[in-house]
Amino acid sequence: MKYKHLFGPVPSRRLGLSLGIDPIPYKTCSFDCVYCECGATTNLTAARKEYIPVDEIISELDSFLSNNPTLDYITFSGSGEPTLNIGIGRIISFLKKKFPQYKIAVLTNSSLFSDPEVRKELLLADVIMPSLDAVSESIFQKINRPVKGIRAVDVIQGLISFREEFPGKIWLEIFIIPDINDTDEEIEKLYAVLRKINPDLIQLNSLDRPGTENWVVPADEEILIKIKNRFTDLPIVTISNYQKRETVKSYNFKIEDAILATISRRPCTADDLSEILDIHLAELNKYLDALHEKDMIEAVKRPRGLFFRAKV
Ligand code: SF4
Repeated sequence: MKYKHLFGPVPSRRLGLSLGIDPIPYKTCSFDCVYCECGATTNLTAARKEYIPVDEIISELDSFLSNNPTLDYITFSGSGEPTLNIGIGRIISFLKKKFPQYKIAVLTNSSLFSDPEVRKELLLADVIMPSLDAVSESIFQKINRPVKGIRAVDVIQGLISFREEFPGKIWLEIFIIPDINDTDEEIEKLYAVLRKINPDLIQLNSLDRPGTENWVVPADEEILIKIKNRFTDLPIVTISNYQKRETVKSYNFKIEDAILATISRRPCTADDLSEILDIHLAELNKYLDALHEKDMIEAVKRPRGLFFRAKV
């Protein structure tokens, strides 16, 4: 069976062997983050709908999991905001009822947490990985570029309410952009808010490879360590604390070779590669990250987008 809405299992640095579920069409999101690896948001919306028929997703999961594969997590992610699919709660309930042996993770930008219905639909998950990059409204707008009507203050209050209701683990991610959200003032604001949200883990992340906007650059390790030291009484790690992607069991060197062979012939965008190699964009991005980390590829900005080529 060819799966349209599942991908992987992918080698995730944080989740190990992770089967991806993408319940949203490319690239539908309530944010248009400047660092997004999936490219610019083409459908900027906060409207919840059954973007992908839930019955189709459930039938694919039923087929894939009936072979009892070894997995560390089943993860809602992909190329947009998964909580925009109004059926996410139904899919989680199905998994917990029929395949309770698997743990469920949800990657989310937290934008819809002010909606009690969204919070309720996520209650059965094991791990929620929300992001929060800024407390100040102007910085939030600059980094996340949300759809009109979404404000930092509501996102934060939604996260605080979710913490009170959710019995599972919350691993919150902060994406640091030098000179934007790493100022002393913003770090102090983040610290105060994080104490209220009380996540089980805080993950500091920074740019792995070029994102949507040219001006976004990676944060030096010293910046991340400085922030980590300010948050010493909070459970905080930097992404470098995690294992390298190619050491995760599911890392598929054949995919790496296929990417290199393709971009050695001609530079391609991530979209091109996803289509040529028939690999989901979110899965492909994991391999581009690993190849970039090993300094085997480089990205060049062109009018049609970011092109990857092999380094010789
Ligand atoms: S929330 Fe995620 S998918 Fe949406 S624009 Fe930001 S990084 Fe991309």
